[in-house]
Amino acid sequence: MTTPTALPSDTERVVRALTLRCPECGGRGLFKTWLLLQPRCPHCQLKLDRGNPDHFVGAYLVNLIIAELLFAAILGVWLVLVWPDVPWDEIQVVLVLAMIASPLVTYPFTRTVWLAADLIFDPAKPADR
Ligand SMILES: [Zn+2]
Repeated sequence: MTTPTALPSDTERVVRALTLRCPECGGRGLFKTWLLLQPRCPHCQLKLDRGNPDHFVGAYLVNLIIAELLFAAILGVWLVLVWPDVPWDEIQVVLVLAMIASPLVTYPFTRTVWLAADLIFDPAKPADR
């Protein structure tokens, strides 16, 4: 077990989260599979759900926000590029596929980013390990 010697900055926590590393210690290997988080960081033993089985709900919120922003961005850029001859059928198919794929692709990142945000506002305590 490795205990972080110095607390990371908020920026370090977010950067570590965006690279799927532990926001607290920077260690890798937080996921058993793409969608399944380990119960603890294999390096610093931080409880990755912070001891709260509903911790994932915040990650779902971040995931939903990213999916909605992606929808708006794709639609907006596409409309601007092809206006006034909009291929509505193609747009519908692409957006449905994007809305199915984006939560699956971004889920691990939203879990670690949510963990980083939680650690920024509620730093780890000895009971979290
Ligand atoms: Zn760690």
